[in-house]
Amino acid sequence: MSFQNPVFIPGPTNIPESLRKACDMPTIDHRSPLFGTILHPARKAVQAILKSTSAEVFIFPSTGTGGWETAITNTLSEGDTVLVARNGMFSHRWIDMCERHGLELIIVDVAWGQGIPADRFEEILTGDTAHRIKAVLATHNETATGVVSDIGAIRHAMDAAGHPAMLMVDGVSSIASMDFRFDAWGVDVAVTGSQKGFMLPPGLAIVGFSEKAMDATKTAGLHRTFFDVHDMMKGYANSAYPYTPAVGLMNGLNEACRMLMDEGLETVFARHHRIAEGVRRAVWAWGLELCAESPDVYSDTISAVRTPNGFNATDIVTHAASTYGVAFGVGLGDVAGKVFRIGHLGSLTEVMTLSGIATAEMCMVDLGLDIKLGSGVAAAQEYYRYGSEIEQKVAAQ
Ligand SMILES: *Cc1c(COP(=O)(O)O)cnc(C)c1O
Repeated sequence: MSFQNPVFIPGPTNIPESLRKACDMPTIDHRSPLFGTILHPARKAVQAILKSTSAEVFIFPSTGTGGWETAITNTLSEGDTVLVARNGMFSHRWIDMCERHGLELIIVDVAWGQGIPADRFEEILTGDTAHRIKAVLATHNETATGVVSDIGAIRHAMDAAGHPAMLMVDGVSSIASMDFRFDAWGVDVAVTGSQKGFMLPPGLAIVGFSEKAMDATKTAGLHRTFFDVHDMMKGYANSAYPYTPAVGLMNGLNEACRMLMDEGLETVFARHHRIAEGVRRAVWAWGLELCAESPDVYSDTISAVRTPNGFNATDIVTHAASTYGVAFGVGLGDVAGKVFRIGHLGSLTEVMTLSGIATAEMCMVDLGLDIKLGSGVAAAQEYYRYGSEIEQKVAAQ
């Protein structure tokens, strides 16, 4: 395995040198005031990345999955009903966690490759006149299929139904890479981790709670200890934690937020869109299809690429790792063996992305697929090259 090559898995993502350095800290006393100079700015910076002015931000030594558990155990009670769509492996896993916690689920199953059906949610919520549904769970970006869902439309559906449920969003593979609007979308709980858009090593669950979600914590009956947000709030008031915080990662988080803000959030989103569009053009130049069924659900952080019937897509991933020292993502769950995934989020440039496209191409040709070397690279180059922008500007005049 080469450590020179970038990774093209949808998390953990490539870590910029400056963030590796920021995480590499001497030990400090996490009960000293010095820790507060890392903790408070990190919470504030995450709030800005969430596009919120009021979200309570919690940072746990954990991962995105711990963020899910934080979301549900602090706000819900056994037997509470939640509404959720299953359209890929990550939404499926969140559902599984809810079941294990004794929640009642209304599951809307949709094809893997489609987004969350807001209209179907509106029907169900409108029918729930007794307001049994306490929370609507949405996976903003299904990392298994490369499908983004319209969270604003889900908020709209909830409002149209006049339903008071909380809106909980898994933004693990979208936040800090694609537009995410905590306040504008009326999100009550947002969940992410350190190792995707934030470009850090894994190890932090990053969670935002609205005022409504904080209110729900007062009556929530599910058990929680490690993920108790009240214990965390008490700690924060004293610039401390109820246990040992991951200080180096939190220092890295500050630096990551600074990088994102220096680049400009909208510029970060535009970069991800541009990189993603080049990858999509490569896929089509190969004569292949995305798992995502329509342009409105194309993800700007991950592309799941369908391979021809009878071909095991996982072979591409295995071959890329063993032969070229490059990591792609395998298909998960229902699409295992049918897709391979190109992660294109975090610290990535067009030029780095071209190397991933070129590698995927070599692998597919090595494995006997009828693909012309250079075809995908050329399609992406045509889209990425500086000249194409100039030509577009000239054409627009
Ligand atoms: C990666 C991911 C998760 C799981 O996060 P972990 O940090 O691995 O626990 C959850 N949801 C989505 C959408 C993801 O991409």
